Amino acid sequence: MPQGIPVKSILNKTKRRDPWFLDDYTANPYNGCSFNCLYCYIRGSKYGENMADKTSYKSNALELFEKELGLRAKKQQYGFIVISSATDPYLHFEEELKLTRGMLELSLKYKFPVHIITKSPLVERDFDILQEINNTAILPLDLSDKLKGVIISFSFSTINNSIGKIFEPGAPSPTDRLVAVRKSIAEGFKSGISLMPLLPYITDTGTHLREMLSAFKSANASYVLPATLTLFGNDRWDSKTLVLRAVEKHYPHLLAKYQNFFQSKTQMPDYYSLAFYEKMKELNKEFGVKSFIL
Ligand code: SF4
Repeated sequence: MPQGIPVKSILNKTKRRDPWFLDDYTANPYNGCSFNCLYCYIRGSKYGENMADKTSYKSNALELFEKELGLRAKKQQYGFIVISSATDPYLHFEEELKLTRGMLELSLKYKFPVHIITKSPLVERDFDILQEINNTAILPLDLSDKLKGVIISFSFSTINNSIGKIFEPGAPSPTDRLVAVRKSIAEGFKSGISLMPLLPYITDTGTHLREMLSAFKSANASYVLPATLTLFGNDRWDSKTLVLRAVEKHYPHLLAKYQNFFQSKTQMPDYYSLAFYEKMKELNKEFGVKSFIL
């Protein structure tokens, strides 16, 4: 079980709403993430190679969340709360700790809409509360005729379980995630895919992309939000070091390409990004899934 550490605040107001994730607020019940994805942007020396060892929970999360949300409700500052933006809200510990569930109960009490972003089927446990939020939340005026109170985005970088095991070693399998997508849609929630990051020459190939889009379409996902790979840092536990090490071990023929891309930059070159987003636009259109939640 992770350590409980008190924090000073938990509900963050965003400067402006991101058009992809529609976040007016973000809230994270955990620090770190035991799903341990090699490409994760929160990686670094703070968490080490196995982030599960350093993951902690916010021991006063619910008390603070109630206080901060209550104040926002009093001022009628309703908006989507993204749970979570810097960890997964359904880590294995959540089964026992129920912090995410507690935050949902409070979101329901104060009538705030929520956007869940997860890699875990454990979200199904909370469909009961999410149904109530979906029907009773007060939405910001500009979104009130477009959405209900719940959005659930499932994160994927691949639908291949073997590739998932290499790059997302602690996360539930993509197969299990796909089942959860179907169930979420069957429950009537606005649900889609956060398809990021796509791994160059591994999960961004034409064949792999088509397989994924076809699987998402047959699960009835209403949107697919794609993004390319970003890697940081040269230290031992940084995302760039870990991803390059995995490429060297499992895809040695691609190592030179990856080294070249990320030698002095954190993002893929412009020519790649332009071609990638063009391709995704075409595929989203071909498969009939939107590139935005709205
Ligand atoms: S699930 Fe998200 S937050 Fe957790 S390790 Fe993976 S990328 Fe990072």
